[in-house]
Amino acid sequence: MGGSLKTQLGSKAFRRAVRGALTLAVISLVMAPGAAFARIQGSPVCETDHIDYGAARGGFAHDGHSAPTSDPLSSWRASAEGKTFKRHSTGSVTVPVAFHVISSGPTKAEGNVPNSMIDAQMRVLNDSFSGASGGAATAFRFQLVTVTRTINADWYDMGYGSPDERTAKAALRVGGAETLNIYTASPGGNLLGWATFPNAYAEHPERDGVVLLWQSLPKGGADPYDEGDTAPHEAGHWLGLYHTFQNGCSNNGDYVADTAFEKGPAFECPVGRDTCREPGVDPITNLMDYTDDACMFEFTAGQARRMDEAWTAYRA
Ligand SMILES: [Zn+2]
Repeated sequence: MGGSLKTQLGSKAFRRAVRGALTLAVISLVMAPGAAFARIQGSPVCETDHIDYGAARGGFAHDGHSAPTSDPLSSWRASAEGKTFKRHSTGSVTVPVAFHVISSGPTKAEGNVPNSMIDAQMRVLNDSFSGASGGAATAFRFQLVTVTRTINADWYDMGYGSPDERTAKAALRVGGAETLNIYTASPGGNLLGWATFPNAYAEHPERDGVVLLWQSLPKGGADPYDEGDTAPHEAGHWLGLYHTFQNGCSNNGDYVADTAFEKGPAFECPVGRDTCREPGVDPITNLMDYTDDACMFEFTAGQARRMDEAWTAYRA
């Protein structure tokens, strides 16, 4: 695809057009591989973590990832605390963010991203959760509290679940369950990032947080995933959200009532795609799908509520 499509996809006008066009029954096939990075479900070592990575777009394997058959939050809702749960109002929860830049050297090309990119990432994160980019306004806002910079070639290419990841987090992680630790690195294997789920905090606080491919930050170069939407996607997992295609067309889907069922991840921006018989076209503009950054921009009200519940249950 040429640059014109990218330009078109990247415009706010197009995002609005996508929303408008969702009422059209247009099926657009997933297009040929055209980028080096993809959000593709891999083989998580642990079900309680979420990992986003890819091999070749369109060539990913269904590799035995076991979707949750029971939802920890559903049990919590039946508890005394769950029964008395009160929603936090829009924007009333400020999540402190500890940002850890891990690089292989002092230059930007080696992963030492400038503060301007971190600031741009924080804006995308807040616009996504405030509803400024579209969708529901959530309870959450994110405030950058600290930035650490570490040059360590081993940590820079840390793999998911690797000794390097454990060592880096042991050295850098700060705060409690309420603090979002974001690590930028270059994990390799076309990994865009991964996150831990909130219910995993009690058992493994040292692992809590989000790892991001630094090129996924705004203007980072991981086109078409370089508008900064990997961070809100992973923060969504960190606050208890599953993918919109979780459990496919069956069972409880993603345990959120107002995200339409979706058989599998959507890539690029297949406007009008509808893969399940249940009502509603696939939620391809949702931040918890796998579409291009230019295509995804929103959380739903149901997701906002679920994150609020997860915060109360596990992070407040
Ligand atoms: Zn994900």
